[in-house]
Amino acid sequence: DKAEQKKLVSEPSITADGKRVELAANIGTPDDMRGVLENGAEGIGLYRTEFLYMGRDSFPGEEEQFEAYRTVVEQMDGAPIVIRTLDIGGDKKLPYLDLPEELNPFLGFRALRLCLEKTDMFRTQLRALLRASHYGNLKIMFPMVATLEEFRAAKGLVEEEKKRLNAEGVSFDSQVSVGIMVEIPSTAVAAASFAKEVDFFSIGTNDLVQYTLAADRMSERVSHLYQPYHPAVLRLIKNVIDASHIEGKWTGMCGEMAGEETALPLLLGMGLDEFSMSATSILPARSLMRTLSVNDARALVERALVCGTADEVKELVYAETK
Ligand code: PEP
Ligand code: MG
Repeated sequence: DKAEQKKLVSEPSITADGKRVELAANIGTPDDMRGVLENGAEGIGLYRTEFLYMGRDSFPGEEEQFEAYRTVVEQMDGAPIVIRTLDIGGDKKLPYLDLPEELNPFLGFRALRLCLEKTDMFRTQLRALLRASHYGNLKIMFPMVATLEEFRAAKGLVEEEKKRLNAEGVSFDSQVSVGIMVEIPSTAVAAASFAKEVDFFSIGTNDLVQYTLAADRMSERVSHLYQPYHPAVLRLIKNVIDASHIEGKWTGMCGEMAGEETALPLLLGMGLDEFSMSATSILPARSLMRTLSVNDARALVERALVCGTADEVKELVYAETK
């Protein structure tokens, strides 16, 4: 119950057989930090920076962004903070940014695709992030990566801004990690190639599920097809985790699935390193982790991967973990 869970607030996240995992929080603004600290998050797995850009009439400048990022980084006191670069477009619009009308905005000009064309805007954000990296354990993450070229181009801009900051004598973490969200099936399938070049993966199941099943995450009409537990989705997730481990990298998950009771044993069994969720899910997840064993979870995954349907997967998990 709630009171029992509250006692876990400063305990580590550990399974019944002693495996340590990281339970992190998703945030949208520095105001969300209160919930993060109250619920004992071990890191921030996703800071959605688009809110800094929304509800105003011009782009936030470098200084304003730097302050927002530094505030969060300093409050985490050395714990990891993954900050995602601008993920606008799709359902999220900016009044001061003229975007083309598209028939399928979720498959269109959004997120990193847009940042790689509007490079002045993107460089401003990268500089603010690099400067904030001096104050703690900040990691940079690109959303909606579909190809290796996109990652290389974005990473190239980071390297260029690092050189400029160096020349200007501005401090930043020269070892700052640069990773990607895995939320497009091409990237999940080709994870082995990406794993050689990125520092980490974070699986964005909210989008990965909609793209894998071709079921709009906003549409009521096809919500029955929006299936995080579809065996195809589970196989993609496992492929990403395995690919990262082969290269000595880590994989997190920052989609809604990472905080679901039914998903935890499956993700633990697949070897997920970091689970990032809304702050209020952290203590229930920590409490559940303490009842799970890695060996049982691995055996569960073996059986889940050969299920035919999402319902079979869920029934299997209920039957084995009750
Ligand atoms: C995701 O797609 O899973 C994700 C975390 O990003 P967002 O929900 O912001 O698209
Ligand atoms: Mg997404």
